[in-house]
Amino acid sequence: MNPRVAIVGGGWAGCTTALTLAEAGVAVTLYEASRTLGGRARAVEFEGRTLDNGQHILLGAYEQTLQLIDRLHPAASPDQLWRLPLTLDQPPDFSLACPRLPAPLHLLAGLLGAQGLSWQEKFAAARWAHALLNNAGTPDQLTVSQITRDQPEKLNRLLWHPLCVSALNTPPEMASARVFRDVIRSAFGGRNHHSDLLLPRRDLTALFPAPAAARLSELGGAVRLSSRVTALEAAADSITLRTLDTSTCHSHVVLAVAPQHLAGLAATVPELEPVRLEVSSYRYQPIATGYVQYDPAFHLEKPLFALAGGPAQFVFDRGQIYGQAGLLAFVASAAANLSADWLGQAEAQLQRIVDPGPARWRKSIVEKQATYACVPNQPRPSVLTPHPRIFLAGDYTAGPYPATLESATLSGVQSARALLEKL
Ligand SMILES: Cc1cc2nc3c(=O)[nH]c(=O)nc-3n(C[C@H](O)[C@H](O)[C@H](O)COP(=O)(O)OP(=O)(O)OC[C@H]3O[C@@H](n4cnc5c(N)ncnc54)[C@H](O)[C@@H]3O)c2cc1C
Repeated sequence: MNPRVAIVGGGWAGCTTALTLAEAGVAVTLYEASRTLGGRARAVEFEGRTLDNGQHILLGAYEQTLQLIDRLHPAASPDQLWRLPLTLDQPPDFSLACPRLPAPLHLLAGLLGAQGLSWQEKFAAARWAHALLNNAGTPDQLTVSQITRDQPEKLNRLLWHPLCVSALNTPPEMASARVFRDVIRSAFGGRNHHSDLLLPRRDLTALFPAPAAARLSELGGAVRLSSRVTALEAAADSITLRTLDTSTCHSHVVLAVAPQHLAGLAATVPELEPVRLEVSSYRYQPIATGYVQYDPAFHLEKPLFALAGGPAQFVFDRGQIYGQAGLLAFVASAAANLSADWLGQAEAQLQRIVDPGPARWRKSIVEKQATYACVPNQPRPSVLTPHPRIFLAGDYTAGPYPATLESATLSGVQSARALLEKL
């Protein structure tokens, strides 16, 4: 049988796998259960407007993702992402900006120049960050709360703990210190632009999954939307995939679904039992994004601000970023105990910075299983499975990042390469 590969799941990992295989000349079919590509990073329509299921930020260190986005958009098209040097502005209490110095001097200079910290706190932060960047041996079992225990309370409240929640979507008392250290290192320990913040200037489906699917079709690949794979049947020389109305034979399959959806698909393949068991230990954390439309003439002074004293960690000005005038997006990560009125509370957080006037409409989107909780000693499976014809891709497979777009695209490339080696 000529290689005919099925990719199950059209999130950023599945789209990357399908594209990488198609570009290597392999015949691929991408199955996506929903009507829209992008999975946990996708566009959603709301009363004639395009929003995202969740406001996303990319880091300058996300080299795989940035390279894919760059490659798929014509050089002459307007910038897809807005690049800002790392700044954390939380008026009136705190402000940190990293100047364009070589890394990690830019972080140290940012910490020493931060507003809202005493000199004692600045030196404590700089010493701690320096030790974290240079310490290879953070034990696997420690949490972020444990490694920040000796830092001044204000630093933890304003800086380290909000960074942990935003980067790992896990509260510091549960979050893996080792993964936190790895994220800080990849942002601050390489080149200075790695810590840049990149804000999508188009909806998340248009940013990567849609152009990836268009390229896939040009290369002869097939994209099946609204096609939920309901079962796998593995024989010695092929894998049969069933959807509600089709049954198709493939030489290989890449399962690029979220970890919480793996168990159902793995159930009929005994070789996948170890992976299924590993992933069944995962716990999940929500992320809420609240959109609030104010007067279109209203805008924030900057494209984003950090917020304190309530459920939201950030507010984004979609007017400046996307041209959606007067629309703000509030983000609450690790949002396990949100009240029904969380968006009202987030608006009250904003009132400490500016009064935007009355809201015209509000829309809250809560992704209950946004990412797995990034806890110490978390098992993360390889893209290779014990079954020689079945591979995995997704933000939870083994890799240097927590559940992020970068871990999804890295795993997609890795999975495609592992499969190509077996052909
Ligand atoms: C609200 C929110 C905010 C986030 N913010 C950030 C951020 O700021 N920065 C960042 O880097 N990351 C962020 N993330 C994380 C990031 O979005 C994810 O890590 C990434 O999108 C995961 O991609 P994936 O392809 O691995 O999985 P998924 O996106 O979950 O893709 C899996 C796909 O498989 C499909 N599927 C499932 N079962 C089947 C089936 N049986 N048959 C066919 N298809 C199936 C699903 O519909 C889905 O499209 C955020 C996530 C959320 C939810």
